[in-house]
Amino acid sequence: MAKNIELKTPQDVWDALLAGNQRYASDQAEHPHSDIARRDALRTGQAPRVAIFSCGDSRVPAELVFDMGFGDAFIIRNAGHIVDNSVLASVQFAVDDLECDLLVVMGHQSCGAVKATSGFLKDDSTIPAGFQRTIVERVALAAIASQAEGKDTTDDFERRNTVETVKQLMARIPHLADKVEAGELGIAGIRYLLDDGTVEPLVLHGVQ
Ligand SMILES: [Zn+2]
Repeated sequence: MAKNIELKTPQDVWDALLAGNQRYASDQAEHPHSDIARRDALRTGQAPRVAIFSCGDSRVPAELVFDMGFGDAFIIRNAGHIVDNSVLASVQFAVDDLECDLLVVMGHQSCGAVKATSGFLKDDSTIPAGFQRTIVERVALAAIASQAEGKDTTDDFERRNTVETVKQLMARIPHLADKVEAGELGIAGIRYLLDDGTVEPLVLHGVQ
């Protein structure tokens, strides 16, 4: 399937993403690409222009908050959007094989992973049992870094956790920065606000 040729650059894709978010946030969503015809058109392959790595929180469904449909976005999600090898592999697939023009890391307001980490750091609560410990371990590094800069609210931790995820992806997949430099890729770290459905840009590479 051919790419959406109307979107020529990473900036075009970023602008379209923000426009979709504005439609959604103002209750003007068009729910594009969500019918059977679209599903059928995609049977032979996909060519999404954006990859989105976000928290798995049920209140942050990327296709809805950016007013997109089938085939529009390659979505990677886990609790707290923490980086591991499977995430890195998925990002590489999206950028190298699908040739997505934009990589978005989306944190959000009222993130449970950050709240659990904040509780551990501030309230001396017990370390989560089982596999959930991994989430707090990863998010805690971002929260501690935020605290060291005097930014000590849960909102601050959410922002820093998103920025850190962007940093980790770019550090571990060095050619992401090369693609940004070449104008082939944009990278955006954003925070979704449950209050009003908008997104808060935190860090931008190759787009503005
Ligand atoms: Zn979350």
